[in-house]
Amino acid sequence: MERLGWNPVRHPDRASGRMGDMTEIDGMGTERATCVLAANPSAMTLDGTNTWIIAEPGSDQAVVVDPGPKDGKHLRRVLDTVEAQGRRVGLVLLTHGHPDHSAGAGKFAKLAGGSVKVRALDPRHRLGDEGLSEGDVVTTGGLELRIMETPGHSDDSLTFWLPADGAVLTGDTVLGYGTTVLEGKLGDYLSSLDRLRRFSADVEAATILPGHGPKLDDPLTVLDYYIDHRRERLAQVEAAVAAGASTAREVVERVYADVDKSLWPAAQWSVQSQLDYLNER
Ligand SMILES: [Zn+2]
Repeated sequence: MERLGWNPVRHPDRASGRMGDMTEIDGMGTERATCVLAANPSAMTLDGTNTWIIAEPGSDQAVVVDPGPKDGKHLRRVLDTVEAQGRRVGLVLLTHGHPDHSAGAGKFAKLAGGSVKVRALDPRHRLGDEGLSEGDVVTTGGLELRIMETPGHSDDSLTFWLPADGAVLTGDTVLGYGTTVLEGKLGDYLSSLDRLRRFSADVEAATILPGHGPKLDDPLTVLDYYIDHRRERLAQVEAAVAAGASTAREVVERVYADVDKSLWPAAQWSVQSQLDYLNER
């Protein structure tokens, strides 16, 4: 994740960008959604991956979004949490195929019981033959989850809308703090953010449930911040190019000079997508 541009609204501790201890994240949620935090914190995954358990009140089935990394302890804890609710896993969904979200999905589905399927946009991450794409509505256990394609962080990134709770599950498209790394195209990402901004305003979304970091109870402020941040970054990259930087690496050296060097490779992907975007324009 880029360490520049921490959301000043939520993050007075901008030096570290941390939000305090993981107990704020583990167990958070809405009436229907509960977060189980995986123990894989890093510069890229923030506090760790948020696995979401979602169920309709009174239903005996739950949907699990992003089982997380292939960590037996975490997967067991997710399943225990579902069972403690008096439920079984009806379906597994992936917001996208990055391993910190998806690598444990197959193992988790097996743990949960023979017939549990994994649905994802990318066929390589599915278990069973059902995909997941724009306009799909998941109704497992009486739940209503609407699927939107929001490429940019990755080509296969999806966002899930849980209307009953006014909650938007954004995967890595919008994070609980900081801003996301782009592996897909910047043009796609900007369109996805604009779309999420319009959508969240239209439906009066109450909360964002991200793939990493704490939930965000002011979706429009967060999305405006993300959109502004991208525009600022783009202007910085443009300025670096005008000043003579010709490769992604050279741009990173100028624009990310104050960012921890361990994050430069990730910053380079983001810069490359910005350079591609500028070239196309
Ligand atoms: Zn990701």
